[in-house]
Amino acid sequence: MIVDFSKIERLVKDAVPPTDADLDFILEKALVGRGLTLEDAAALLSIVDAGQKKLLYASAKALKVRLFGARVVLFAPLYLSNRCVNSCVYCAFSAGNKAAQGGRRSLTPKEAAREARAIEAMGFKRILLVTGEDPALGLDYLISCVNAVYENTGIRIIHVNAPPMEGAEFKALKAAGVGVYQSFQETYHEKTYARVHPGGKKRDFAYRLSTMDRALSAGFNDVGMGPLLGLYDYKYECLSAISHSTHLYEKFGTHAHTVSIPRLRPALGAALKDAPCPVTDEELKKSAAVLRLAIPPAGIVVSTREPAALRAELLHCGATQLSAGSRTNPGGYAEESTIEQFSTNDKRSLSEVMTAIAKDGFLPSLCTTCYRVGRVGHEFTEKTVSGGMAKLCQANAILTLKEYISDVKLNNRLSVEKDALVNMLASSIEEIEDQTLKKAVLKKLKEIDSGKRDLYF
Ligand code: SAM
Ligand code: SF4
Repeated sequence: MIVDFSKIERLVKDAVPPTDADLDFILEKALVGRGLTLEDAAALLSIVDAGQKKLLYASAKALKVRLFGARVVLFAPLYLSNRCVNSCVYCAFSAGNKAAQGGRRSLTPKEAAREARAIEAMGFKRILLVTGEDPALGLDYLISCVNAVYENTGIRIIHVNAPPMEGAEFKALKAAGVGVYQSFQETYHEKTYARVHPGGKKRDFAYRLSTMDRALSAGFNDVGMGPLLGLYDYKYECLSAISHSTHLYEKFGTHAHTVSIPRLRPALGAALKDAPCPVTDEELKKSAAVLRLAIPPAGIVVSTREPAALRAELLHCGATQLSAGSRTNPGGYAEESTIEQFSTNDKRSLSEVMTAIAKDGFLPSLCTTCYRVGRVGHEFTEKTVSGGMAKLCQANAILTLKEYISDVKLNNRLSVEKDALVNMLASSIEEIEDQTLKKAVLKKLKEIDSGKRDLYF
């Protein structure tokens, strides 16, 4: 069984906020970094007291910094196609969406490479390819786009958010050099799932739920998951995601590499106008914090669906990855003409987001190392929970920030941005405790000054 849904239902129904003594006990256990039971997670999700929430967030932040350092990983999504045979009631790409007719578009591999070049010019090194489900395009199309981006740009790693597939297809996608396979369950509540997915291949709940098992069995090392928050009770969704990830750990030795926490956004012409179970900002923060503590090695991803101020707060609650400068319409980085999947809430550029992160005491990172040196799957999970990743993450973030400052023409009017990034770079170097590592970092920084690129630990 991938997730024991009747247990999750029971836990949500019975959960009560912890006493202060219970909270201390659970948080102490969480800070060991080996995760939490579903019972503990359910108790934390039930917290309503402001003081208890503060303790929860502080613990999540402390664990994040201990495991990954102060770095925040940045990436951009690249939407390939808004053609789709499914009829998800919340999505603008939905097959029957009249508002989308005329705005349907699938990029050619050449156009995908052009989009990737625009993203690269902003300073990104990793992209997430995203696509609707159109059998007419198929896996060969996706792989052609992956190849075109690798062959024609300096993008260092490509991840993919694509519909569930069969083992043989996963094998081919992995062989094309894709790092993480990502797919969101949307909702773990089967009846709700049936209601919001009335048509198309995506109707099959069990097939979607088992896709991570197929991906990992087929040789993918890292997978990304997430509930689409707002469709059903957020506690149920978070506990299910924790349980799903724990299943993967027990079966494959690796937790979910990332857990995204997207909240439903307005989508042009979508049948679903309002979230049936709206999730408040505080509930989203609790979700991020509990996921961090319950699945310590997982990256917690926050997209531009959320506004800037809340994204900043989420970084203080355990989130570790942000998308930035995103366009959710195919071709949107080079042009503006096609249908967006949903409207974004944070329109800042990458440099603005990086500056804000730095000013807030975090270290913006464009690192892509682990996937490329094989620090993946089980090895990544164990290295992270045993505390071995933090100094590597910090060092690699420093190197990529240095490249960014050297290579990307920051708008002159915004020299303030450059100052914030330069100051963060200097203080992060200063903070390296391991003197041997510090020496090695300084050496690589000099090499970057003399023109070398793509250096890492
Ligand atoms: N088509 C594939 C699928 O559905 O799995 C992959 C890409 S889909 C474009 C990416 C994700 O966007 C979906 O899994 C869903 O969680 C999210 N999404 C769709 N509509 C949304 C909306 N209105 N607001 C926020 N997120 C949305
Ligand atoms: Fe298609 Fe994905 Fe949108 Fe559903 S969420 S309509 S599958 S693109």
